[in-house]
Amino acid sequence: MTGVRLYDSATRTVRPFEPLVAGRVGIYDCGPTVYSYQHIGNLYRYIVADVVRRTFEYCGYKVTQVMNITDVGHLFDDADQGTDKMEQAAKREGRDPAAIAKHYTDHFLADRAKLNVLPPHVMPYATEHVPEMIEAVKTLIAKGHAYPAADGVYFDITTFPGYGARLNPPGSFAERQAGARVEVNDAKRHPYDFALWRAAKPGDLQQWDSPWGRGNPGWHIECSVMSMKYLGETFDLHSGGEDHLFPHHECEIAQSEAATGKLFVRNWMHTYFLSVDGGAMHKSKGNVYLVSDFAAHGCEPLAFRMLALGVGYRKSLDFTWRALQDAQRRLDRWRSAIGGAWQRLQGSTGAVDPADPVKAAFAEAITDDFNTPRALAQAEAALDLVNGSDGALRARGLAILFDMDQVLGLGLRASAEATVLLGDVERALLDERAAARAAKDFARSDALRAQLQAKGILVKDTSEGQRWERVSRVSEGEPA
Ligand SMILES: [Zn+2]
Repeated sequence: MTGVRLYDSATRTVRPFEPLVAGRVGIYDCGPTVYSYQHIGNLYRYIVADVVRRTFEYCGYKVTQVMNITDVGHLFDDADQGTDKMEQAAKREGRDPAAIAKHYTDHFLADRAKLNVLPPHVMPYATEHVPEMIEAVKTLIAKGHAYPAADGVYFDITTFPGYGARLNPPGSFAERQAGARVEVNDAKRHPYDFALWRAAKPGDLQQWDSPWGRGNPGWHIECSVMSMKYLGETFDLHSGGEDHLFPHHECEIAQSEAATGKLFVRNWMHTYFLSVDGGAMHKSKGNVYLVSDFAAHGCEPLAFRMLALGVGYRKSLDFTWRALQDAQRRLDRWRSAIGGAWQRLQGSTGAVDPADPVKAAFAEAITDDFNTPRALAQAEAALDLVNGSDGALRARGLAILFDMDQVLGLGLRASAEATVLLGDVERALLDERAAARAAKDFARSDALRAQLQAKGILVKDTSEGQRWERVSRVSEGEPA
């Protein structure tokens, strides 16, 4: 088993990963609030989480990856102000919250699949865990960490020394308090006490019975309850976005550790925001892009995955259409080389030598805090072998690339296999073109080439005869 080194947001250091149980990793990724479509910034974070999970699996760990679906309790303000996102979406669309949640969850899962993000092993819904959340709130009250108030139940942050300072720099919470706008809520003892349970407001579509009356759970307690239910009171790795550093994850730590008296999470991981054209994504700028916007720019979802891999999760990814198109060309170049080699080798690559130096360098890069840019450089080294003239090296390069793709998730084998999956019409056109060329009927062979290109098949003439590959629209007629 290869060791993994990773950056931990709590200690702010890169250190060797030590599993709680030998050979196993428990991971919790904060999931989406399913009140609207997930934009590419949100999806980027799940690509990162997918690379993490695949890396551990590549290294021989048995991974349990849990990602929740938040379908109740998340307010527009991460603190306790604003309306509930699900309630507002239900009013906006005139549908009940369950229908809203189903629609946007299905869409999110379909987008993940297009990005080759593997389904999590467990995907709990908040609305299906309300009884456990009520139990957790009862425990916190019994232990003196929470108190019922007129409009719900609050966590008393003064009972958890160090609140706000686990993942955030020392002193930042004090600064935050000093600079904060004054929140008007007489029910709270301390302005930063946070809701574990909220009393239902008139007209709330989502509400449950509780010892404190009808109401709904707070967003933070959802993640504590669902992560500990499926991974245990202490688990290996918890990931989220940089926006979760405060308050969401600090609240999760406080309430989980106050309830159990144990360390909650051994490693914390946060992905930086994606920017667009050097700035923030915002509705007012019209740049809140979805995966479904890619096609109009001649790009596939997997080009976005390639783009994300080229940056690395601890650098901020600046999204531009040009950068996405460059990533598409890179992917097309890889597929072209791999498809050509696959056709020559007739689908046989042989096995990967576990001691292969290119594979070893790749593993070294990916286990060094998931350094995907360096890992891609090793994939390019394997691609050089594929592009060479030596048949044995070509087979070796191809086998290494398919091995690496267990982590990269670019669908390289599928794209190679697709090069030999031709329809009858396409095959007939290719055969006819080869015959026209052999007969030196170049006008006919050029016409057939154009016909094939219109079907997304690019034909090249090589010293070994006619070769072809499938192309995306971005590569047509443009130099790679
Ligand atoms: Zn969460």
